[in-house]
Amino acid sequence: EAGKPVYKRILLKLSGEALMGDDAYGINGAMLAGIVAEIRSVAELGVEIGVVIGGGNIFRGMAGASTGMDRATADYMGMLATVMNGMALSDALRQAGINSRVQSALSIEQVVEPYIRGKAIRYLEEGRIVVFAGGTGNPFFTTDTAAALRGSEIGAEIVLKATKVDGIYTADPKLDPQATRYTRISFDEAISRNLRIMDATAFALCRDQRLPINVFSIFKPGALKRVVAGEDEGTFVHV
Ligand code: UDP
Repeated sequence: EAGKPVYKRILLKLSGEALMGDDAYGINGAMLAGIVAEIRSVAELGVEIGVVIGGGNIFRGMAGASTGMDRATADYMGMLATVMNGMALSDALRQAGINSRVQSALSIEQVVEPYIRGKAIRYLEEGRIVVFAGGTGNPFFTTDTAAALRGSEIGAEIVLKATKVDGIYTADPKLDPQATRYTRISFDEAISRNLRIMDATAFALCRDQRLPINVFSIFKPGALKRVVAGEDEGTFVHV
């Protein structure tokens, strides 16, 4: 049946940049509302959704380190940025009448609950969206790795990586008009062709756990729903 979900539980990775929209910094209200609408369209189908949220719209550890800041300190600041984004997303979901919880890998108990795997799984079973903030809780990692990690932990069937580009291309489509999009590619082929889909740690974890990845554009209306329906949307990375 067309439009019927092929996954019961998914892990959606949203970069901080997705929340930024066309702004240069921070959280764009219209963009956030758009993302909430996309998430709602999938939640309505009964799909259980965990979200790992990035922080690049506010702060990146590498950027801090490049100005002379201690890298680990800068990374903790980046993790705190993801908590702010997680709170904003959860609040926008609440305003749209969608139940969600934020769990953080860093404990900041006055504002968000700590990450507890069993509790997260229970929330998902109850139909709530769980927003995983704070990345992995460790410096020198990324929220892509947090997506691979939480996706594995909650038993998600796929990691959906929302980006600005609608998939993985043979070359940069902005520079090369001949570039074509891969509809499907294996982990091994992506490695041999040197395609950067996620950072190496995240990619290796998904591959080890046989957790497929679908890269798609969050700016394309209906794309998330089509991915969840198993349609050709973006690039599907398989074992
Ligand atoms: N970060 C970290 N450990 C993690 C996840 C994130 O140290 O497990 C820090 C890191 O400094 C990173 C920042 O948080 O630059 C924001 O995360 P990320 O760059 O992954 O966000 P995105 O690119 O998805 O917006």
